[in-house]
Amino acid sequence: MEYRSVGLKVGLEVHQQLLTRRKLFCHCPPELSEERGATLVRRLRPTRSEMGEVDAAALFEWRRGRYYEYETSNTCLVEADEEPPHELDREALAIALGIALAMGSSPVDEVYVMRKIVIDGSNTTGFQRTALIALGGAIEVGGKEVPIETICLEEDAARKMGEEGAKTIYRLDRLGVPLIEIATAPVISSPEEAREVALAIGRLLRLTGRVRRGIGTIRQDLNVSIAGGAKVEIKGVQRLELIPKVVEQEVKRQLSLLEIREEMRRRGLSEISAEPQELTQLFQGSKSKVIRRAIDAGGAVVGMRLRGMRGLLGREVSQGRRFGTELADYARFYGGVSGIIHSDELPGYGITEEEVSAVRAALGAAEEDAFVLVADQRERALRALEAVLERVRLALRGVPEETRAALEDGTTRFMRPRPGAARMYPETDIPPVQVTRELLAEAEKIRPEPLSVKLERFARMGISKELALEAVNDVRLDLIERLIEAYGEKVQPSVIASLIVVTLRGLRGKGVDVEALPDERIEELVEMIARGEVSKEAAEAILEAVGKEGISCREAAEKLGLRAVSEEEAERIVEGVVRESLAEVKARGQRAISLIMGRAMSKLRGRIDGKKVSEIVRRKVEEALRE
Ligand SMILES: [Zn+2]
Repeated sequence: MEYRSVGLKVGLEVHQQLLTRRKLFCHCPPELSEERGATLVRRLRPTRSEMGEVDAAALFEWRRGRYYEYETSNTCLVEADEEPPHELDREALAIALGIALAMGSSPVDEVYVMRKIVIDGSNTTGFQRTALIALGGAIEVGGKEVPIETICLEEDAARKMGEEGAKTIYRLDRLGVPLIEIATAPVISSPEEAREVALAIGRLLRLTGRVRRGIGTIRQDLNVSIAGGAKVEIKGVQRLELIPKVVEQEVKRQLSLLEIREEMRRRGLSEISAEPQELTQLFQGSKSKVIRRAIDAGGAVVGMRLRGMRGLLGREVSQGRRFGTELADYARFYGGVSGIIHSDELPGYGITEEEVSAVRAALGAAEEDAFVLVADQRERALRALEAVLERVRLALRGVPEETRAALEDGTTRFMRPRPGAARMYPETDIPPVQVTRELLAEAEKIRPEPLSVKLERFARMGISKELALEAVNDVRLDLIERLIEAYGEKVQPSVIASLIVVTLRGLRGKGVDVEALPDERIEELVEMIARGEVSKEAAEAILEAVGKEGISCREAAEKLGLRAVSEEEAERIVEGVVRESLAEVKARGQRAISLIMGRAMSKLRGRIDGKKVSEIVRRKVEEALRE
């Protein structure tokens, strides 16, 4: 695919949790918690903005009749939205400003907190607090300057735990954790470049040592458009490797939607209208499970003819997703139904050829027409069909502007319409914060050293260039640096870096959940190596046992017989081996060394440096031969 020729433009929004002592607008610890306190139930209602408009997205969400349950772990009134927010966390602001300075961004003079309407219940307030802290700047990626547009400080949303019918369940532990949001200009022109830019921004953030890590602590949103398509916002890409795939699939989807538009025009479709009709009677004796379930629950089957659309609903728009899937997304979102059935996939779902003919006859659908069925509560089904019709109308214009959610396979699904400008308004509970000289001085201290300086420092410590590059890209960079500082005199820095970069990668390959391995365990191991209690060769086996069995490094070393031996102890063991093999030693002379080495290593592997063993073996064999 020649991405330049389709006019691909991608912009990135990177969201990263900051490592602070408190939440952004209250003094609770910004940690996930399994503790359970009271449960709150809330419904959100849309209201007019100060400009007199109602946000379309908010209105739709309210019409869906959803409500929200919040699990709490404490009794914080700010999180429950029963008390005004406390002052903006200064530490979070200083970290965000430090990152802004590192990107050459210009900090604002005064920070104004704004409210951004969020209608999915992920905030108890019905809005997310966000503050612009810097503008402009750039990050260099592969010799190209990628401009930064804005840097904001935001509160993270509540953690979604699941859905049950009309209820969505959230946990409040994550709500209010400080986030930095970095938005690039839409200048990225290939899927791979999008990944590289995200990697470079993530690395710069980690270089500060003041950001959180682990699953869900960094999230990427992508804005993707092609020439003649539309700006589509894709939310929640958690893994870097998925970014190119998401971009590729979105380009494919937009191109396919443009082809569908062309085909609709070729077929002379200019005004799309349709009248939903009740078809329940036709399905009284149906064997289709989907249909039966709806009718038995007192629901209805409602259908709608789509003139001239035959074959288009079954068209693939992205991997495994059809134009019919796009229609179904709208039906689900606006109608709250579980899906639709369209004529390009029939007969199917237990619906027979005869039933298809009967539906065609009832809807007056000709050979070249398509139709859509929804089996659900009557009112919901009608709302769903209305949404399907609206989506087909949009198809005639091309690609609709949407907010979509990234799926695990790199495709996306419709999440909601793109919110309008009416969604932002000032947070009147928090006074503006002056960006003072003192604050900028604090930020200056947090500003990370340039990558080249860090790499040079690693080189001076004897870390190879290759390992150093991997270390700065590693999510545990902060741990590597902390352990080098604490133990670097007794354990070579390259050993520490390699343990975290190379050994952990090997363990991941062996099925160890490396991400869940606590830093404290890795530190325990480095400390044991520093004290000579285990050798570095034993590290992998010990961490494997720690990761798989949840025991401490000390317990693992004991269990595996990997406790280090002193040189004297090693000498005694080698002596024992020589004595047992004395006849062979006498017979082979010097050539017996490799034999003894093998036998000694089977007792000493991982417990003392192999070179030491080799020395002792040579010495002991020679002694035996002299006797
Ligand atoms: Zn709180």
